[in-house]
Amino acid sequence: MKWEYGKRHRRTTILRKRLLLGIFLVLVVFLAGYAVMQFGQRDLTLALQRSSLKSQDVKTVEAPQDSSRSEFLMDTFVSIRAVGPNAEQAIQAAFDEMRRIESLMSRHISTSDVSRINLGAGGSPVKVTRETFYVIEEAVRCAGLTNGAFDITIGPLMDLWGFGTSNPVIPGAEEIEQARSLVGWELVELDSENMTVRLPIQGMSIDLGGIAKGYAAEQGAQVLKEYGIPHALIDAGGNIVAAGPRPDGEPWRIGIRNPRGEGVDDTIGPMLHVVNEAVATSGDYERFFIHDGKRYHHILHPGTGMPVETVSSVTVMAKDSLHADMLSTAVFVLGPDEGMEFVETLDGVSAMIVDTDGNTLFSKGFPGMD
Ligand code: ADP
Ligand code: MG
Repeated sequence: MKWEYGKRHRRTTILRKRLLLGIFLVLVVFLAGYAVMQFGQRDLTLALQRSSLKSQDVKTVEAPQDSSRSEFLMDTFVSIRAVGPNAEQAIQAAFDEMRRIESLMSRHISTSDVSRINLGAGGSPVKVTRETFYVIEEAVRCAGLTNGAFDITIGPLMDLWGFGTSNPVIPGAEEIEQARSLVGWELVELDSENMTVRLPIQGMSIDLGGIAKGYAAEQGAQVLKEYGIPHALIDAGGNIVAAGPRPDGEPWRIGIRNPRGEGVDDTIGPMLHVVNEAVATSGDYERFFIHDGKRYHHILHPGTGMPVETVSSVTVMAKDSLHADMLSTAVFVLGPDEGMEFVETLDGVSAMIVDTDGNTLFSKGFPGMD
C-alpha cells in the first residue's frame, strides 16, 4: 500500500511539475513571439522609412540602412544594394571580398592564381587557393558535360581577338588554327590532394571570364548574409544574386535586357521574381565590334575559334551564381537546340534564349512559362 501511495504521490508530483513546466514554456513562447513581432515590425517600418532617405542621412549603425554602391571591378560595373543594420559596412566588406576573388582569378593581375598557372604552362604544377581550385574544377566538369563548348583554356583565342582592348581584330585563319592547337580542357591537370593545377603545353592559358564574376557575386552575397543583411541585391555585370526578398517582403523584380534594344530598360521576356536565387545573362552586346556590318563578340566557339552566331543572349536561373554564370556562357556556345537539351538535364536550372532572329525560347521551369 505504501508503495502504491508512494507511486501515486510521485505521479501527482510529476504531473504538477509537468503542468508548471508547460505553463512556463507557453509563457516563454508567447513572450518570444511578442518580442519577434515587435522587433520585426520596427525593423520593417524603419526600413521603409529609410528607403525614402539618402544613405548619408543614416547616422546610427544599429538602425537598418538602405545603401547602394557601384564600383568597377572584374572588368565590369558591380552594384550592390543592401538593406539592414550596418548595410554600408556590409557593402564595403562584400566589395573587399569580390576584389580579393578578382586578385586570385584575373588573368590581368600578374600575381593571381590564374596568371601563375598560365605563366607556368609547360612547367611544374602550380599550387593555388582552394577557391581557385574549386572554380577550375567546376569549369572542367562543365566542359565535360558540354563536350567542350564551355572551355576555360580558351585564353590563346581570347588574346588573339583582343575583345575588351582598345583595338580588337579579326584574326586570320592560320592564327586561329595555331591558337586552337593550344585550347583543350582535357589537358588541364588537376591534383586535388596537393591543390595544384598544371597546363602541360607552353602557351596554353586559362581564362575564367565566363565564370569568375558569378563566383565573386555569390561570395559577396555570402558576406552580406554574414553581416546579417536580410535584403540584398548584387549585380556583377549581368550576374545577379538576390539574397533574401526586397525590404517590403516581395521578390526582387528582374527584367531581361533585349539584346537588340535601345538600352538596359528595353527588356524582353517575362519579368523575373527572384528571392535567394541567381540570374545570369550572357549577351553578344557586352563586348563586341561591328565590321562590314557583321557583329563580332567575346563568346567564342572553341571548335571554330569564331564568335558564336546562333544566339544573342542566354539567361540562366540557378540556385547559385557561379553555376548561373558558367551555364549561361555554356548554353550560349551550345546554341538554341543543344543548349536547351542540356539545360533540361540539370536540376534546379532553367533558361531563356534569344536567338539571332530575335525569337525567345524557354526551357521547362523558366518562370512564367510553366
Ligand atoms: P560577360 O563576361 O560579358 O558577363 P560571359 O559570362 O558570357 O559574359 O563570359 C564571356 C567570357 O567568357 C569571355 O569574355 C571569355 O573570357 C570567356 N569565354 C569566351 N568563350 C568561352 C567559352 N567557349 N568557354 C568558356 N569561356 C569562354
Ligand atoms: Mg558567364
